[in-house]
Amino acid sequence: VEIDLSDSTNQWGVAPSALSALRDWSPRMVSEYPPVESLQLAKACAEYVGVAPENVISGCGSDNLLDAAMRAFAEPGERVAHPSPSFAMIPVSARTNGLTPVAVPVLPNGDVDAEGMLATGARIIYLCTPNNPTGTAHSRAAVERVIAEAPGVVIIDEAYAEFADTCHTASAPRHPHVFATRTLSKCFGLAGLRVGYGVGSPSLINEVLKARGPYKVNAFAERAATAALANDRAWIAELVASARDMRARFASALRSIGLSPLPSQANFLCVPVANARATVDRLYGFGIAVRGFPDLPGIGDALRIGLAPWPVLERVCDALRSSLA
Ligand SMILES: *Cc1c(COP(=O)(O)O)cnc(C)c1O
Repeated sequence: VEIDLSDSTNQWGVAPSALSALRDWSPRMVSEYPPVESLQLAKACAEYVGVAPENVISGCGSDNLLDAAMRAFAEPGERVAHPSPSFAMIPVSARTNGLTPVAVPVLPNGDVDAEGMLATGARIIYLCTPNNPTGTAHSRAAVERVIAEAPGVVIIDEAYAEFADTCHTASAPRHPHVFATRTLSKCFGLAGLRVGYGVGSPSLINEVLKARGPYKVNAFAERAATAALANDRAWIAELVASARDMRARFASALRSIGLSPLPSQANFLCVPVANARATVDRLYGFGIAVRGFPDLPGIGDALRIGLAPWPVLERVCDALRSSLA
């Protein structure tokens, strides 16, 4: 398809320092092993979020770290509580590690049900803020309550933190049982390189390290990610400002064609529709890919549409208008 907004990847491009770092490659980056654990990358992540390098672990995408955290913090047969709807990889990754996923419906206002999560008694409580696929952020009160009362480890997936008003990453190391995960797949435009990182206390980071294993970030990814984190802050700030503008503008355009997007703190909008599958197919006919979710709990059928520069979103609005007519 011509326009692919189905994965919420970066439609504004690639962090420029990452691209120049990649152009500057040498054959040794191919023939030799990368560092077992890249200190430069950990340092760049740490500086970017405002923690110390010993509070950081990097991985092959944040998926790699979420998966390792499940092995690190729960024994086979134990439970992982997660909001529903939320990131589809979580129940998959829980089962892969012999754990039992327990879905806890979000509240009618879209906030995470802190009490319901705690009532599961799960060894691992997974939070996702802003949440995928709804885009809604968890309230600070709910996140703080889960952190205060959880019997085991709390994972906070902050893949979309750059686009949100609140961020919990820098405070994670203050709690010995909180692991925050971040990614370069969305805001930095580096999904193809597979780089993510996690933040927590040094002893917690060490547990994830043992479960993750060595050599997870390849030499190209390491070099590009380190350069982008260190040098592309202004590019990121500009991109985030533009994405937030587009979020408001796209939401109001959708409302004017009779749709009611959910409040979003991410780089996508979740838009309830009568028939997700049919709408996805019709949009496909216009050369536009969006993600359809049949029957999300408490929401019904919905589309998740990634944000992009306005000319792209305008085409999506036009295609939606004719698809729904
Ligand atoms: C996109 C996304 C990720 C990113 O995963 P990577 O493996 O880093 O590409 C993680 N969590 C959520 C909720 C996401 O939407």
